[in-house]
Amino acid sequence: MLVALALWGAGAASQDASNVLTEVARALGAADLKTVQYSGAGFAYAFQQSYRPDAPYPKFHAAYSRAIDFERGLSREETVRTQFENPPRGGGGQPLYREARAAAVSGEASPWGGGAVALTPHGFIKAAMSASPMAASRQLGGRSMTVVSFTARNRYRVEAYVNAERLIERIDTWTANPILGDMPIETTFAEYRAFGGVQFPTRIVQRQGGFPTLEITVTDVRPNAAVTLAPPAAGGLSQARAEGRRIADGVWYLAGTPEPNSQLIEFRDFTVLIESSVTEGRALANRAEARRLVPNKPVRYHVNSHHHGDHAAGLRAFVAEGVTIVTHEMNRRFYEQVVLGNPHTIAPDALAKAPRAANFIWVDDTHVVSDGTRTLEIYHVPNGHAANLLMGFVPQEKLLIITDIFNDFGEPRPNDPPPGLVSPYYAALGERVRQLKLDVERIAPSHGTGAVPAEMLWKALQGKVQAPQVSRQ
Ligand SMILES: [Zn+2]
Repeated sequence: MLVALALWGAGAASQDASNVLTEVARALGAADLKTVQYSGAGFAYAFQQSYRPDAPYPKFHAAYSRAIDFERGLSREETVRTQFENPPRGGGGQPLYREARAAAVSGEASPWGGGAVALTPHGFIKAAMSASPMAASRQLGGRSMTVVSFTARNRYRVEAYVNAERLIERIDTWTANPILGDMPIETTFAEYRAFGGVQFPTRIVQRQGGFPTLEITVTDVRPNAAVTLAPPAAGGLSQARAEGRRIADGVWYLAGTPEPNSQLIEFRDFTVLIESSVTEGRALANRAEARRLVPNKPVRYHVNSHHHGDHAAGLRAFVAEGVTIVTHEMNRRFYEQVVLGNPHTIAPDALAKAPRAANFIWVDDTHVVSDGTRTLEIYHVPNGHAANLLMGFVPQEKLLIITDIFNDFGEPRPNDPPPGLVSPYYAALGERVRQLKLDVERIAPSHGTGAVPAEMLWKALQGKVQAPQVSRQ
C-alpha cells in the first residue's frame, strides 16, 4: 500500500508539473519563442578569483549580451569587463587597464554550468517538459511557491521557483566543481516586462558557490532574432598534458594544458611539485610527469601558491596520494572545511572514492624545504592579487618561481599597463624581492613557457606605479 501511495503521489506531482509548465509557458509567451537576443549592463565577477578565500569574487563593470537558440540548445554569452575594484583586489585579469572582452558558445555537450540554456526561464520549460518533471510547494522569502524540478543529463538536479503569476523567479542547480564539490548555482529573475508578446526578466542575478558571478539589468530583448550559432567543438576541456623541460640542474618546468604550468624540484630522496593547476586531470598529468622525470623518488611536498580556481583544483588529487600540502595559513579554514569537507557526489574524484586524511604545512611568512643538498625557500608575498600568495626561490640556481603577479603570456593583455606605468601587482613582487635581498637571475612564472631572464621583471618595474582609472558607470 505504501508503494501504491508513493506511486500515486509521484503521478500526481508529475501531472501537476506538466500543468504548471503549461501555465508558465503561457505566462512567458514561450510557445513561439525559437530564439532570443538580449543585452544589458551591470556587473560581472571573476569566479574563484577572490582576494581572500572567504571574500566575494572580484567585481567588474560589465556590458553583457547573449543569444540563445532554444531549439538547438545553443547559447553565446559575451561580456566586456572594465576595472571596478579600487584599489585592484583579486584576480580575473586585474588590474584592467583596457576593457577585457570574452565570448563563449555553449551547447548541450558543454560542461554543466551557469550558461546552460535550461537555466533560463524559457529554456527551463522545454528542458523540464522532456525530462519527467515533478512539482511541489515550498516557501521562499515568506511566500508559497511552486517548485518544478527535473534531472538534467541524468545527473544534475534543476529546480525552478514559480510564483502566483506563473513566472519563474529563480532556478537552482548544482554542478561538480573540483574545489567546491557539489556546487550550487542560483539564478534569480525579476522585473519581468513584455517584449513583443514575450515576458522577459530585466533583472538577472547569478550566484555560483555562494557568491555573485553576474548582476545584469537587461535593456534590450529581441524575441526570435536571427541567431546563427555553430555548436562548440566536442570534448570540452582539452586532454590534460604535462611535459617537463629541464630549466636548471634538478629543476623542471612542466608545461602543458590546461594552464597554468607547474615546477618540479628534485631533492636527495624526494621531489617537490609547485602548483596543482586548474583541473584534477592536469594535477594527475603533473604527478605522472614528475614520476617519469625522477622515477625513484616520491613527490613528498606539493606547494600550493594560492586558493584561486586555476591553482587549487588539483589539491585533492595530491591529498589522495598522501602528498603533504604546503600553503599559506590563511587557507586553513577554506581547505580543511570547504575543499576537504564539501561532498563530491556529482562527479566523485580520487579523494571522494578513497578518502584519506590530509597533511598540511601552514606557512605564515617563510618556510624552507632543505635536505643538505638542495634548498627551496618559500615566501609569502603581500600583494593585491591574492592575500595569501606564496612564491618559491631556489638559491643555488638563483631561480624565482612565481605566479599571477608576474606572467609571460607572450601576447598583449588588457592588464598590460600603458607605457611608463607599472602594475601595482608587479610592484609588490619587486618590493618583496628587494626586501628579502634575493639574488634573482631567472624567473619561472606558472603562466608562461619556462624560465625567463629576471631582466623582464626589472623592465616591467620601470615607471610610475599606478592602478587603472575606474569609470563611474
Ligand atoms: Zn590567482
